[in-house]
Amino acid sequence: MIGLISATAAGAAARDRLAAAWPDRTRVYDGPVKDAVRAAFAECEQLVCFLATGAVVRLVAPLLGDKASDPGVVCVDEGGRFAVSLVGGHGGGANELAERVGELLGAEPVVTTATDAVGIPGLDTLGFPVEGDVAGVTRALLDGEPVVLDAEVAWPLPPLPFAAQGTRTVRLTDRVVEPGDDEVLLRPPSLVIGVGASKGAPADEVLGLVEGALRDAGLSPRSVAEFATVDAKRDEPGIVEAAARLGVPVVTYSAEELAAVDVPNPSDAPLAAVGTPSVAEAAALARGGELLVPKRKSDRADGHASMATCAVVRRPGRGRLAVVGLGPGARDLLTPRATAELRRASVLVGLDQYVDQIRDLLRPGTRILESGLGAEEERARTAVAEARKGQSIALIGSGDAGVYAMASPALAEASDDIDVIGVPGVTAALAAGAILGAPLGHDHVSISLSDLHTPWEVIERRVRAAAEADIVVTFYNPRSRGRDWQLPKALAILAGHREPTTPVGVVRNASRPDESSRLTTLAALDPATVDMMTVVTVGNTATRDIAGRMVTPRGYRWQEGTR
Ligand code: SAH
Repeated sequence: MIGLISATAAGAAARDRLAAAWPDRTRVYDGPVKDAVRAAFAECEQLVCFLATGAVVRLVAPLLGDKASDPGVVCVDEGGRFAVSLVGGHGGGANELAERVGELLGAEPVVTTATDAVGIPGLDTLGFPVEGDVAGVTRALLDGEPVVLDAEVAWPLPPLPFAAQGTRTVRLTDRVVEPGDDEVLLRPPSLVIGVGASKGAPADEVLGLVEGALRDAGLSPRSVAEFATVDAKRDEPGIVEAAARLGVPVVTYSAEELAAVDVPNPSDAPLAAVGTPSVAEAAALARGGELLVPKRKSDRADGHASMATCAVVRRPGRGRLAVVGLGPGARDLLTPRATAELRRASVLVGLDQYVDQIRDLLRPGTRILESGLGAEEERARTAVAEARKGQSIALIGSGDAGVYAMASPALAEASDDIDVIGVPGVTAALAAGAILGAPLGHDHVSISLSDLHTPWEVIERRVRAAAEADIVVTFYNPRSRGRDWQLPKALAILAGHREPTTPVGVVRNASRPDESSRLTTLAALDPATVDMMTVVTVGNTATRDIAGRMVTPRGYRWQEGTR
């Protein structure tokens, strides 16, 4: 039960919203707050006090006993702006409660407990089976004491502040070992078990075979990721049940796919039965990796023919490259998905000025590889090379990372041995469009005027095509100190097909602290006011200045239809 205590009318209003949202989990304590807090503290697992933190500190101080049994206490201020986890962050669930209360009331949760606040996950929350001194080593990480990562297997991990030397270790291993003192074992899902079975093979026989193979090779069953077999055996009960008992999924491949895999021990029996010379080894190796246990057959005590085969492969850790657009600048135009990817990455690659934009969001321990302007291909290569090592990488760019930015050079380098995730960002044309009004209401195009990588003739041909087709144009990279004749030239081409009065929007530093924008016309635009922080959007022949806003109609016919 969650006890609710308030003193003022504003507090009571917020309290009633909580009570209405969680009718079965909350109880309102009326009367003098001192008595209410004492009663709720004795009777409830959690308290939400709509009171100042100072008042609550004084009220609960004499009641505090033990952090394992005390209720969790959350304070919400008079303005309903903050939900403060005051006491019992973990044991009492106050951190979690502060988050929930915050969501409900639109208040900012305030959490000061080390693991949550520093952003370091507990070693038992990484999604890997763990063994050993989890509490002790997690605490050491939080306290900034040196903890060494001993990775026997390359596998993507979230960022953790590991040291080069120290007595405590986190050991990433799929082998059967006993954790030492001051050691945590993390079990990556690195083992693939290829299995074959004849019709009706008992689950015990399959499981016994697999467990024996792992035992003999010194491999931990806790690192088994999946069973792999041929499509025809997808529903073979012995395989399905053995996998279920180990708690892993069964993945299957077609006989053709398996027949194409190079294996050390092909044979004629499966070729006749299912159309591939190898099931166990081929299925285990289908996605690459290292064969640790070649094909072996089950032993039958009763002297009958063996009904199952298995092989064990250590698959390579698959690196993850997230290509993340940071948006035009403002923090609230950075998407939650982008934030999540930044916090998930153990390595961040980007231009130094963009890294500065989001440095505060990174988890401690994130390795930052920043570089200056230019060096684009170098950055792309670095990001892909790091991902190939089995790491999680975030490659960042402003606006959308795919628009005149890092995504294409990076993906040109990447092969299918890494996962690539794109996170879209608000590109400059859209950020500027929203500031100007609705300039992109009909067909529009972006053209970069940078002739660094593109010959001017190509750029000019595209500008001409846009001019002839009456398309709204947004110019990126419009003008720099050394590149000043391109913009006037491009505008002149458009002016050959549009009135001098055509609206032109100029937006500098969209959504950044020194944002500025101007609405002018093709004839009046002074190119000297444009620089590399700017985009220039030129309307089509229907674009109008309406009440100082740039508006491109969605088309004459469409407008008639709405009349
Ligand atoms: N990937 C970026 C574009 C990179 S090219 C994006 O999607 O926005 C760099 C050019 O983008 C700059 O020269 C400028 O023309 C434009 N630009 C980027 N951010 C901008 C902003 N906040 N305001 C105005 N123009 C911007």
